[in-house]
This record gives sequence, structure tokens and C-alpha cells, in this order.
Amino acid sequence: MKRIALLGSTGSIGTQALDVVSRDEKQYAVTALTAGTNARLLEEQVRRFRPRLAVLGEEQAAWELKGRLADTDVRVSYGEEGLLEAASMEECDMVLNALVGVAGLQPTVAALEAGHTLALANKESLVCGGARVMELAQKKGVSILPVDSEHSAIFQSMGNRPLEEVRRVLLTASGGPFFGKSREELRGMTAKEALRHPNWSMGKKITVDSATMMNKGFEVMEAVWLFGLAPEQVEVLVHRESILHSAVEFRDGCVMAQLSEPDMRLPIQLALTWPQRQEGAIKPLDLTQIGALTFQKPDRENFPCLGLCEDAIRQGGDRGAVINGANEVAVALFLEGKIGFLDIYEMCAQALQDQPFRENPTIEEILEIDRAVRAQCLGSHIALPR
Ligand code: NDP
Repeated sequence: MKRIALLGSTGSIGTQALDVVSRDEKQYAVTALTAGTNARLLEEQVRRFRPRLAVLGEEQAAWELKGRLADTDVRVSYGEEGLLEAASMEECDMVLNALVGVAGLQPTVAALEAGHTLALANKESLVCGGARVMELAQKKGVSILPVDSEHSAIFQSMGNRPLEEVRRVLLTASGGPFFGKSREELRGMTAKEALRHPNWSMGKKITVDSATMMNKGFEVMEAVWLFGLAPEQVEVLVHRESILHSAVEFRDGCVMAQLSEPDMRLPIQLALTWPQRQEGAIKPLDLTQIGALTFQKPDRENFPCLGLCEDAIRQGGDRGAVINGANEVAVALFLEGKIGFLDIYEMCAQALQDQPFRENPTIEEILEIDRAVRAQCLGSHIALPR
């Protein structure tokens, strides 16, 4: 039986992970479930999966949940302390980090410190703290298994081949809901339109990141850190059908790719069962139904967030943390209708320009940088003429 702590269980990845678990309950024990604010769903999940620990973001909500769960032996905790406890409980084999944003960084570190295998959906952990996170995983001898579909595809396509044999990685992108739009059209795009992704149903933040292609930029960074690649070895290709989830090109010219229906339950399941494969949680792929797969170069001019991330990973240091902090603020403001779609890029580019470069920040310094960037972005937003 695999004992799993699931951080962010009420989100898009979290609920799909519990769907995977519920298909073969004899194989898994859920040790911890955590949510930010969705106490109602967390309670339902707790009653169904009976973890030892349930965590909510706020103290008051946690007290209320504790009262409602008085008929169970589930312990309830809250806030950062609760999350870190969930990530580092001794009676656990694997932590699935499905939190969104930099909030996932410290739990990632806590899971690795505790020596737990980490199934990582929270790409912001690597965007902000890639160097430190990978260093820690190596020091502790702990595996990080990718949950992001592209990185799961790269991981599978890589097999056990040494890195020296890899020429480059082809990272595919759906292009998001605004693919093909002009700059003028993009200027007027609303949150409602950005949230209509053609191929994937995901949390709000990553859906907006897909629309700006910031998500693909973050995935370039994630691939560099996870697989030890040079930034120049990662090439982004737009592939509208979202069937080929990424590929590895070897030095002899062979390209290995992973294909399947676009359904996150496959990479989630693979991370949970690795190194085994099990009966599929998803619909089988019928290539004759799909007919053709298309590939093209991304539109870097109209979607400049991609290039911003590529420059950031080439520069290294704290650039990932700066761009992520600015992006989290910008996306939140965009979702509230307070800034326009194109302002997301502007806010991130401005933050990169204004923040001094720091070479090799510690985790604590990264969190300080994040706070400074957020304060700067919120300040600049308030100062904008309305
Ligand atoms: P969601 O927004 O759907 O879910 C996020 C989860 O984290 C929820 O359980 C939420 O709780 C919780 N949460 C949010 N903020 C906090 C906080 N500050 N403290 C504690 N808990 C918090 O996100 P997704 O599932 O879409 O994405 C999760 C991660 O996986 C992201 O890093 C994303 O980039 C990555 N990913 C997602 C994919 C997808 O298909 N969704 C695909 C590939 C990667 P509550 O529900 O209470 O708000």
C-alpha cells in the first residue's frame, strides 16, 4: 500500500488525483488532504478517504471543520504550519504537491527534507527555487516525479538514456484559447474569455498562464531543472491537438514521444504507480479518429511571456522568482478585471527590470524576493492612472 499526502486536494489536479486513487483504493492510503478555503469539499474528501490529517488555509475555518469532523479521528490543522506537517509526516511514502503558486515551494522543500518521493504538479516550486530544490533532492537521494503532462512525456521518452545522448527536448504547447489572435484582439480579452481553454480543464491561474503562454515559459524552466538541460536544448512547438505531449530528440536523430488523449489522470496515475504502469484511467487513443497532428513555431511577438521566461532561465539567479511573483499578482488582478490581458506581460517585464539581480538565493531569500516583488507590483498597480 502506498501512503500518499495530497496537498491541494480540492483543486483540479487534486480532485483528479483522488479520482485515480478511488479506482484502486486497496493500493493507496491517503495520509493527509489539504485545501486553501474550500472547507465543504475538503470535508467530503476527508469523510471519503479518512486521512490522519486535514489542513485548511485559515484558523477560523479549520476550527469549524474540526467541529464538523468531531465524529471522526481525523486531526485538523491550518496555515503554513499545517501544510508543512502534511508534507513531512513520517507515515507517508509519497507527497503529491498540487498546490498552486509559490505557496507550494516550502511544502516541496519539507517533503524532500523528510525524504519522501515527490510527485510534483506545482511547477512554481521549480520556477522560483529550481536550483535549491534539485540540489536538496539530490542530497537527500529523493526522486521528483513530474505530474505536468509535458514533463511526464519527457520523463517517459527519455527512458534511462544518459543526458549526453539528448540533443534537445520538444516541448509541445496547445497555444491556449487565444492562439492566432492579433495584438489588438488580445488587448481587449477578458478573464472569462481567457478561462475558456480548448483542450484542458484546469485551475484558473494555470488557464490564464496558458492564454499568455507564461505557462509554457514556466514549463521550459521546469524542464531545464528537472532534466538538467541547457535552456537552449528546450524547443517549444505549438501542437493544437494536445495529443503528443512532448518528445526527446537524441543525438542520432531518433525522436521518442509520448502520445495519449489529453487527460491529466494519466500523468497523475503514472507518478503514483511509477515504476509500474497500470490499467488506464483514461480513454484509449484512436489515431484514426484524430487523423492529423500539426506542429508550428510559437508566436513570440504576440505572446512575449514565453521569451521573457526563456531569457529568465538563461540569466538564472532569482529571475524565476521575480517573474513568478509578478505573474501571480498580475493574473490575480486580471481575474478581478483590474488590469488588461496585455498588462500581465508588462507587469512581469517591469518587475524583472526593477528588481536587482541576485545570484544564488536561498529558499528564505526567494520568499523575501517574492514578497518584495508582490509589494512592488501591487504598488505600481495602485499608482496607475485609472
Ligand atoms: P487549482 O487552483 O485548481 O487548485 C489549487 C489547490 O491548492 C486547491 O486545493 C487550493 O485550495 C489550494 N491552494 C491554493 N492556494 C493555496 C494556499 N495559498 N495555501 C494552501 N492551499 C492553497 O490548481 P490546479 O490544480 O490547476 O494546479 C495545481 C498545480 O498544478 C499548479 O502549479 C499548476 O501549474 C499545475 N498543473 C496543473 C494542471 C491542471 O491540469 N490543472 C496541469 C499541469 C500542471 P482551494 O480549492 O480551497 O482554493
